[in-house]
Amino acid sequence: MSETPKVLVIDDEEAICELIVAVAESAGFDATSASSPSEIEAAIVGRFDLVVLDLSLGEMDGIEVMSKLGATHRGMPVILVSGADQSLLDTAGRIAEMHKLRVLGTFAKPFSLDVLKTAMLELSQVSEMGIDPTGPKVIIDANLLLQPDYLQLAYQPKVSTRSGEALGVEALVRWRHPEHGDVSPGIFVALIEQEGRTAELLDIVMSMAARDRKRYRALASMPDISINISVLDLDDEELPRRAQKILLEVAPAERWTFEVTETAPITDVAPALSILTRLRIAGFKLSVDDFGTGTSNYERLLVAPFTELKIDRAMVNRLDINAAEPDPMVRSGIDVGHSLQLQVVAEGVESVDQFRMVRDLGCDAAQGYLISPPVAPVQLDVALDDWRRKFEYLS
Ligand code: C2E
Ligand code: MG
Ligand code: MG
Repeated sequence: MSETPKVLVIDDEEAICELIVAVAESAGFDATSASSPSEIEAAIVGRFDLVVLDLSLGEMDGIEVMSKLGATHRGMPVILVSGADQSLLDTAGRIAEMHKLRVLGTFAKPFSLDVLKTAMLELSQVSEMGIDPTGPKVIIDANLLLQPDYLQLAYQPKVSTRSGEALGVEALVRWRHPEHGDVSPGIFVALIEQEGRTAELLDIVMSMAARDRKRYRALASMPDISINISVLDLDDEELPRRAQKILLEVAPAERWTFEVTETAPITDVAPALSILTRLRIAGFKLSVDDFGTGTSNYERLLVAPFTELKIDRAMVNRLDINAAEPDPMVRSGIDVGHSLQLQVVAEGVESVDQFRMVRDLGCDAAQGYLISPPVAPVQLDVALDDWRRKFEYLS
């Protein structure tokens, strides 16, 4: 990114804002600040590369701001500061992750300005070099957003925790920028949602998955392919018919799953329930994605005929090998799934320890970088061979 990176500083104390702004400018950022609730409301809809957020903001609180930020700026890097103790800051950090924000650091006041500057410098240098773990932050021309030529699917295996066998793959969309490479869906799916064009994206993704399943042997023999849908798609009466038309030509409905993720609050549950039920009646499987990310609407949706529940990676990440008792949130997520007779999948399994823990807690399946990152269809066989070798050693 050649442009100067932008930081937004949110603190109800103006003097602190000024200090942090000065630190940010010396770290190479363009800095703006917001102190009052009206300033904050207006500022958080803007474009920036980093937010420094104080947790206690007088009339508003930082958690409220996180939820608003997460809704419009998924993947946004944040630094949390607070006068509260470090354990409260750690909890706030986890809440921020549940709102899909990327926490770069948490600082209990009084903190050293040098340490804050170092954290900021790291980010500004990374963005100067154009390296960002969430993919390049490029401005995508709205006309190109849904050009099939720019879109591709990567596939990530989901395996049985008992046998290690692949139970299926998840199709994850990638937007391939001609110069910058793959852009993460965390950035551009939010843009598509803002433009109200999620139905178009879904049609393109379904068509690409059907084409890939026909074209690549590793996918043709896969028991299941899952496709992500946004709750925003659940008001589209035509969806069950289109899904049947596009997908059933290649494989029967029981070999496709729709993963529903709640990227926006569901205002009216009745139509969503009816679309989900119609998809299930047609034979498709249904998965609750990102379970445990702190939204309560799922409770209302859980009466829908789901077949699978995916425990969000923020929860899996919290599993601690040294803890006397497993994290109660993870355990209750697994219990909810099993009491509803759903297959329970742990997402974001990155280490052997995490794999063993989720297996021992009763998760039926696991997905994550330990098993394989999302890969192109031609790389699937190799990725699964590598996994089989790891699994032998694991069990
Ligand atoms: P998701 O459905 O929960 O997908 C899992 C995400 O976690 C993927 O990110 C995957 O690359 C990442 N992941 C998998 N294993 C690990 C791990 O071990 N560690 C870590 N840190 N991450 C892991 P990705 O591909 O960037 O997708 C992000 C989100 O974008 C997806 O979350 C999904 O909600 C959405 N998305 C992806 N494809 C589509 C699509 O076709 N349509 C819609 N509406 N949303 C999509
Ligand atoms: Mg998913
Ligand atoms: Mg997920």
